[in-house]
Amino acid sequence: MAFETVNPTTGQSLKTFSAWDKEAIEEALQQAQESRFVWAARPLSERCRLLEAVAQQLRERKEDLARLITLEMGKLVTEARAEIEKCAWVCEYYAEQAPRFLADEMIESDAGRSYVALQPLGTVLAIMPWNFPFWQVFRFCAPALVAGNTALLKHASNVPQCALAIERTLLEAGFPPGVFHTLLVTSAQAAEVIADPRVQGVTLTGSEAAGRKVAEWAGQHLKKTVLELGGADPFIVLADADLEQTVPVAVQSRFLNGGQSCIAAKRFIVMEEVANEFVARFRASLEALRPGDPLDEQTTLAPLARLDLREGLHRQVKVSIEQGAVAVAGCQPLPGPGAYYAPSILDRVQPGMPAFEEELFGPVAAIIRVADQAEAVAMANASRYGLGGSVWSRDVSWAEQLALQLQCGAAFVNGLVKSDPRLPFGGVKCSGYGRELSWHGMREFVNQKTVWIK
Ligand code: NAP
Repeated sequence: MAFETVNPTTGQSLKTFSAWDKEAIEEALQQAQESRFVWAARPLSERCRLLEAVAQQLRERKEDLARLITLEMGKLVTEARAEIEKCAWVCEYYAEQAPRFLADEMIESDAGRSYVALQPLGTVLAIMPWNFPFWQVFRFCAPALVAGNTALLKHASNVPQCALAIERTLLEAGFPPGVFHTLLVTSAQAAEVIADPRVQGVTLTGSEAAGRKVAEWAGQHLKKTVLELGGADPFIVLADADLEQTVPVAVQSRFLNGGQSCIAAKRFIVMEEVANEFVARFRASLEALRPGDPLDEQTTLAPLARLDLREGLHRQVKVSIEQGAVAVAGCQPLPGPGAYYAPSILDRVQPGMPAFEEELFGPVAAIIRVADQAEAVAMANASRYGLGGSVWSRDVSWAEQLALQLQCGAAFVNGLVKSDPRLPFGGVKCSGYGRELSWHGMREFVNQKTVWIK
């Protein structure tokens, strides 16, 4: 079966779905095409009202949707509820801001009147990952749909029920059929959808490997793309950082969502003079992480989303240790049927090791000790990725100077790197290109049309 819900807590297969055949895909494409102009012609106020209704639906069904997320990809149910809340927020945000964001932009020129009109591009295919199975979809579709586009969703193969529940939520909120459609298609079938002339753009949130493939297909057919890919965010701890405040956020950033977040702090770049204390405090904080059923509110360590992902993570850890990294805590799978991995610290990580060069998508913190600030910035930037990063210091203006030197899409000073509907989100280097959220995200899938009138 192409799509399967396997409970990561028990390893039990709960539901399977076959991939759609050619006829089903054709029908969805045709429906998107037919809805496209009708939807774009609806008054903006009406599209905004429907988005508000989606926010309401999400809040009303929060408990069921959160349980579904936990069942399919294993995150703590408390985090799943917060994810649904955030989806409601992004819908409300765009419902409120769209009239301002989509207003004509008047520009003085040699014309009697000239301006930029923002018009929908058409149908956009969204290829999405399982790690925030609702949030990733909503942060794309809230601005894209309210701008008048139609959307097709190819979700990750392990969250088919979330994919279908998202479509249902929009329909129940009053969205006309065809404006948002979940396709149960494989990656290979997604290539055919991208090639189809009825599709005008594609957005992918996922791994670098998937990004390269999608960019290749989209390039062949000249389709507009946004790529939100992996990250290995640096978390720079300067010698004067307040460790009492820094360490809890370091732990939160690394272990949120079972460590499976693109903007999790993954490489902790710590000044040698405070490194021992930082590691000792970090290690002590891991005591609070208790594995268990993620549906139980007392549980603080969730399983990874799939057993094969745990295997891949453990391979990266083992090779890093073989190459000289020091296992300070964990660094092994936990026994039992679920995909649990012990909260882990790898100290003395260096360039060349998987823990430095690759993305560790799980509860493993890599510590990189540095002699001075110049080395800290050099280490931070010696990565193929450039998604987020943070700098921790009591000297805020100095930390800001370092933050500006980081090669990444979002740099935070003394704060958790997080996404927020009001702020643009995206990466540089192999973390992808384009932006989501805010005014910037809304512009990705609109035609910024110049209008010149004598
Ligand atoms: P993934 O394996 O790349 O899958 C993401 C999506 O791409 C899934 O729908 C997957 O479908 C599809 N896909 C995979 N290979 C493809 C291919 N060759 N052609 C077309 N589609 C393909 O990534 P994941 O394991 O789900 O997610 C984890 C990755 O996403 C991490 O690298 C993480 O950092 C990144 N991520 C980035 C952001 C961001 O905003 N930058 C946010 C969240 C996650 P199947 O499931 O059917 O293979």
